[in-house]
Amino acid sequence: MARLLLVEDDLTIRTPLLRALRERGHAVAAASTAMTGLRDALDDRPDLVVLDLGLPDLDGRELLRMLRAVSAVPIIVATARDDETEIVRVLDAGADDYLVKPFTAAQLDARIRAVLRRGTGPAQDDPALVVGGLRIDARSRQVTLDGTPVELTPREFDLLHHLAGRPGQVVTKRELLAEVWRIPYGGADKTVDVHLSWLRRKLGENAQEPRYLHTVRGVGVRLEAPGGVG
Ligand code: CA
Repeated sequence: MARLLLVEDDLTIRTPLLRALRERGHAVAAASTAMTGLRDALDDRPDLVVLDLGLPDLDGRELLRMLRAVSAVPIIVATARDDETEIVRVLDAGADDYLVKPFTAAQLDARIRAVLRRGTGPAQDDPALVVGGLRIDARSRQVTLDGTPVELTPREFDLLHHLAGRPGQVVTKRELLAEVWRIPYGGADKTVDVHLSWLRRKLGENAQEPRYLHTVRGVGVRLEAPGGVG
């Protein structure tokens, strides 16, 4: 399931496509002009935009450039022109893929899934991680522990999310600095220690009596469910 924005002015294309994509389990919003498409793409932050190039108010290529200037949202262009120059121009302008009209909903859905699989980040199409009573939802960036919400800072969330993606494995501080802090060299282990202790406190535990976060002295840290089953 993905949250899609379909920018298409032609009702004879838009209506059946909307229905077919919804039947395939996507949440689909539609816009019929470039300007409403631009506004919706920025306000609603869809997972992917399907963009028709022939729009009434503005050339779709122009909208593609405007969108690309302000957003990394994946974009699939629907074009009526099956010529190489056009396709190269569209891809150069930042489209992730294209389809030549007419196309079926099945073809579009396959392209959507392929583009989302390539992904732009871990939140893309990524189901919640569950470790014991911890549930970490990358999309909404919300964490619950035994059903109760846990308020985390963005860094604490990223740290927990990274560990929860590798339950039962010891993750080194070096790896955490590189992956969570984006510090490839020379970061201080202390930085990780401090955030781990904050995270512990929010999860209602401490280093002496760990439940989820286990320090492996001299190596790193391991997240696992109480009882040892990830
Ligand atoms: Ca059109």
